[in-house]
Formats: sequence, C-alpha cells, structure tokens
Amino acid sequence: MQEQLTTEKVILEERQGEAVDLPGTNGHGKKLYVESYGCQMNFSDSEIVASVLIKDGFQTTRIMEEADVIMVNTCAIRDNAEQRVRGRLDEFRRVKKTNPDLVVGVMGCMAERLKTKLLDEDKLVDIVVGPDSYRDLPNLVRVAETGQKAVNVLLSREETYADIAPVRLGGNGISAFISITRGCDNMCTFCVVPFTRGRERSRDSESIVEEARQLFADGYREVTLLGQNVDSYLWGGGGLKKDILAKGDLTGTVSFAELMERVAQVSPLLRVRFSTSHPKDLSDDVLHVMAKYRNVCSYIHLPVQSGNSRVLDLMNRGYTREWYLQRIQRIRELVPECGISTDTISGFCTETEEEHQDTLSIIEAAQFDFAYMFKYSERPGTLAAKKLEDDVPEEVKGRRLQEVIDLQMRLSEESNRRDIGKTFEVLIEGPSRKSPDFLQGRNTQNKVIVFPRENFEKGQYVNVLVQDCTSATLKGVAVR
Ligand code: SF4
Repeated sequence: MQEQLTTEKVILEERQGEAVDLPGTNGHGKKLYVESYGCQMNFSDSEIVASVLIKDGFQTTRIMEEADVIMVNTCAIRDNAEQRVRGRLDEFRRVKKTNPDLVVGVMGCMAERLKTKLLDEDKLVDIVVGPDSYRDLPNLVRVAETGQKAVNVLLSREETYADIAPVRLGGNGISAFISITRGCDNMCTFCVVPFTRGRERSRDSESIVEEARQLFADGYREVTLLGQNVDSYLWGGGGLKKDILAKGDLTGTVSFAELMERVAQVSPLLRVRFSTSHPKDLSDDVLHVMAKYRNVCSYIHLPVQSGNSRVLDLMNRGYTREWYLQRIQRIRELVPECGISTDTISGFCTETEEEHQDTLSIIEAAQFDFAYMFKYSERPGTLAAKKLEDDVPEEVKGRRLQEVIDLQMRLSEESNRRDIGKTFEVLIEGPSRKSPDFLQGRNTQNKVIVFPRENFEKGQYVNVLVQDCTSATLKGVAVR
C-alpha cells in the first residue's frame, strides 16, 4: 500500500460528543488535537489513538490553539511527506508560544523511521511514538507533562488493536475504515513500510465482523477493509501463518475471501470495499466473492508499479508483467464491470527508456480507470537505497512521470465517457464539494457521481443516470 495519499491536512474531531471522565484517568477533559497525513491506514490509526486518549479522559478539539496535547500522524513514504510535517511543527511552535504547557507528539511512520533523531532534530517534540505503541500514549503523555521526552517505537508481531473500538473522527458518517492487517512482509525494495510498520499480522476475524455490525447499527453504509496487503490476510489455525501455509493445513483458519464474505453477510445494505490488493496474492476466491455479493463493490486497487518484468524484479514485487496482465484478464472475466485503479513509479533505479515504454503499454493494456502516479523517491533504509543506484536523472523521472499522467488522464476521461447514458446505484455521501444544491456519492466502481439534491439524503442509495463527465467525476440526474 503506497497509494491514496491525501496531502491535505485533515483535522480529526470526535463525532460522538462529550468525552468520558473516568476515575484514575489522567485527562480530566484536557483537549487533544490530532492531525493526520498519509495513507488510509494512518487515518484509521488516528481513530485508535483518539479512542485510547478519550478513554483516558481527553476530549478532542479541531482548534489547535485550544489543545493541551497535539498529536500529528505522519507518513514516511516520500521525502516531501516528511518535509510537510516539519512545516507543521513550525506551526505548532507558534501555538506553544501562547501555551508553554502544550505537549507535542509525532506518531506514525516518520516517528518510527527517525525514532529519537526527531528529538535531536527539533526540541519542540515531546513524544515520539510508533504505529504499534499507541496503547502506551496515556503513559507517554504523563511523562511528557513532567517536562521529560517520551519515546516508544517498539514494533510488535502481535499488536492489531482488535479490542480497541476506533472513535470515528471527521468522515461523513457513511463510510468507515476497518483495519484487518498491520505491517507487511513483502519487502518491496523501494518501500519503507516494512521498517516503519513491522511484520505482517492479521486481526481476529470475529472482531472485524463485529466492528462492521456495529458500524451498520450506527448508520454507516460502507466499510473499507484496510491493510498493506489485504489478500494475504489469514486468521486462526493456532500458529504462525508461515507454518500454517508450509503445512498446507488451513483447518480453522479464515482467509481474506472468507472474511469478506462474512462482512458482506452483515447486511445487503452495507457496501464492502477493500484496499490494498497485491497482484501476487489476489486470488480467484476473492473475485468469486465479489461476483457473488452485490454489496461487495466491483472495484479493485491493484498496484502495478512498473510494466517491465526486469524492473519488477528489482523492486522485488514478486510478479512479472505477464502475471499482472493475467490477473487483470481474470478480474475482467469473473467481475466484468469491475473498476480497476493502480499505482505506478516512474524512473526507478536503472529503468531504461524501453522499460518506461513497457509501463506506458501496460497502462494502455489494462485500461485503468484511474491511478496514483509517482516518480521514484529514494528512501533511506530501504533495500533499494542500500543496494541499487538512484541513477535516473530527476528531469528524466519528471518527463516519464508526465507521460504516464498524460496517458492515464486520457484513459480516465475515456472510461468516464463510456459511462454516459448508463445508470448506476450511488451511495450518497453528502453535499458535493462545489455546491450545496448537489449531492455526491460513488458507484460500486468507486467513481464519484454528482447530481441535483432534490429531496435525497446522505446514506441513501439512489439510481443516477450519467449525462456528462470530466476525467475525475461523473455528472447525472437521479432516476426512479
Ligand atoms: S512493501 Fe510492498 S506491499 Fe508492502 S506496503 Fe510496501 S509497497 Fe506495499
């Protein structure tokens, strides 16, 4: 999972009203301000963090100047993501001038990557906490309130926070994330995630189904099952996954396809999405479940990264160009109307012009509906940084990336143009960004559709006839 990065600042505020004042808790109504950057996993983690600290007596606030504790959830996937956080620390420094007791904490992947170096780098930082240590936050805050620095960056092989009910922050009250795995064992050579989020582990399947039931009861109508590589989810069997797979005895285990089927059975009115898939692990079983359940959305995000097998091998992606295209063909066979998106990296170490052309041609062949497109950014500590030379000049990386973007923009526009005249069932998520007279939602293929509000409400399903489009959005009218 590298994609779906949101660069905009998202301030999280508790939706459920007053914080609880528990005996022995430290917070006593102190104010917590949380800012999140990076992937969906980080947003889901921030809801765990809010839950842990609200249980300790904190309240959340959207107003930085009101905060007693500021926690920023960070991404380390590219250098500019980390520079962004350093910019925010300057903003928090301004707040600290008016509130000297303010506690500032850095959490997430940048915290895990840099550890105590962050304290040396910036004296403003009081707490550094990694993705597996959020249970320890009440204690870390107590230490920081005494003026000492507090650090916990221990990675775990077990931690899944399965027993912590996330406090839904921000969001639209209709769609929610449910994390099903943590960490990643894939070791793609360009990626920091295995070093910042640790070894892969799957969460108890019953706790996931129960969370989906609770969300449905609370009015949510869509859940996204989250993991760095959801396809390798495997719960149970009373042992380590690798031993279970080595024995080949899956008795008592729950695979990703089985988990998704159980979540889909919560209610036909609950849409089920998942992210992120890995081409080497995406099974036909998953595709069969998608075809069998109308409420399992027909959309897959399947990062390809490169269209050339030599480059894929250097990236340690575990599949070839041919394997990837075979997976795309299988998706089209078993889930004909499936929306497909991807990730690409341009200018990876030693990538030649011909190999760049292979990326362009695989995008053309796969006909993606949209993509997250990046140029290679070497990350310290990754296998590529240690073993491969970042030898493609920046201007060449930029030019190749632009060619990929231009191609994908054309394909996205063509994909949306093909939808004009079709009617889609849309789950209404809220008012359109541009006008309160319009509502927006997504179809099962994960495409955004905007249409006149009439008397419809968010959370409703409505059929919309598509009449026009841009490369990013479909426009239509509700039909009964
Ligand atoms: S190592 Fe590979 S599969 Fe795992 S998070 Fe990184 S890019 Fe995704």
